[in-house]
Amino acid sequence: YRKTIIAGNWKMNKTLSETRAFAEELKPLLGRPKWCEVVLCVPYVNIPAATRLFKDCRIAIGAENCHYESSGAYTGEVSAEMLKELGVKYVVIGHSERRQYYNETDFTVNKKVHAALEAGLRPIVCVGESLEQRELGVTLELINYQVKCALAGVPAEKMRHVVFAYEPIWAIGTGKTATAQEAGEVCETIRTIIRKLYGARVARAVTIQYGGSMNPKNAFELLAQPDVDGGLIGGAALKPDQFVEIINAAN
Ligand code: 13P
Repeated sequence: YRKTIIAGNWKMNKTLSETRAFAEELKPLLGRPKWCEVVLCVPYVNIPAATRLFKDCRIAIGAENCHYESSGAYTGEVSAEMLKELGVKYVVIGHSERRQYYNETDFTVNKKVHAALEAGLRPIVCVGESLEQRELGVTLELINYQVKCALAGVPAEKMRHVVFAYEPIWAIGTGKTATAQEAGEVCETIRTIIRKLYGARVARAVTIQYGGSMNPKNAFELLAQPDVDGGLIGGAALKPDQFVEIINAAN
């Protein structure tokens, strides 16, 4: 069966010393190893330190992006292979901020999903609608398109490595969370799309997260939805006490 995955996405936050301070503050707050998987996706430069700092508390490290080629003339970029060798387990692919500011499209997302899987990383594929799209009533069509594009050419046997994150753009960093019902509906739709593509057994095993202003107050209700199997957490993952509360809500 699928695992609950609570993942922090630090975005462009925390220097190396702030990463160390976070680890020191977090560790005493963590209880026994939990049933759910905990991941921290951190800026590239903090990855080597983070894999060391969080090794003894069973927190997996993720990256926030990667390139779709394994090497080559792409100044300033980082490949999935490079991340793998550092001990990275997860990589966020197609976050709405990357789609918005760095021209990522459903086609580059697809290429990056392939690159991540080939390198042995688990992609956390982000999909989600804007406020305008929600108001026009095209959310589920858009999600269908984004999920199908992301998965094009991905074989069924690789699907147990793929994680989806439903992140409505209007809920990111706004303090405005989707209702549990809204989140549950879209996550259920994502699973239905996967079921149509790969069958029920594969669909049951895929972890589907919700992201967008998830916090200690709303986490429990969101995670109680049958198709919400975790969270991708921005702001609240920068604060050890809040991140731990969300981890506890998932157990
Ligand atoms: P916030 O939790 O800050 O809204 O960010 C969500 C997000 O974008 C995680 O990837």
